[in-house]
Amino acid sequence: MLIIVDELSKEPRDLSGRVELGLGDGECRDGLVINKPVAYKFEVLKKDSGVRVRGNVKAGVEVSCSRCTKRVSIALARQFTVFFVAADALEGAFEAELGEDDLDIAHYDGGSIDGLQLLGEQIILGLPMKALCEEDCKGLCGMCGIDLNRIDCDCEPGADPLWAPLKALRDQLES
Ligand SMILES: [Zn+2]
Ligand SMILES: [Zn+2]
Repeated sequence: MLIIVDELSKEPRDLSGRVELGLGDGECRDGLVINKPVAYKFEVLKKDSGVRVRGNVKAGVEVSCSRCTKRVSIALARQFTVFFVAADALEGAFEAELGEDDLDIAHYDGGSIDGLQLLGEQIILGLPMKALCEEDCKGLCGMCGIDLNRIDCDCEPGADPLWAPLKALRDQLES
């Protein structure tokens, strides 16, 4: 989905549809999987110094719970406004046009904007900082690694294994 900047008129153009999106390795955070076709709807508007893309993206994604690593499905919906400026544009040349809030600046190269890349980036930006399988997920035991949602272990909470040898030494000296 390439948006050729020279082919845009100064009338807003609406683009919408569904697209299968696979995120390349290294481009995504650990374990992110996009399950369903990504639905998008946006308006492309050419301005004097760049191209404003405003719209929304919806995707069904799967990530790992940040506490217990169980897989979690998330229905992600994100609104965005991105102002694309040519990579070789002069610094400051576009600032006068930016009277809007909530606007991200991005650069495009070679005369076109890669719509798929934009969607992929917006999905990553839309992910929760810490995904949880459940609000009160107990996570994994920091000492034995067991899933505390399923079973309790006998580890002493708060006891730090690093200090155990020192504590044993102290007990020895004190006796
Ligand atoms: Zn969890
Ligand atoms: Zn444990």
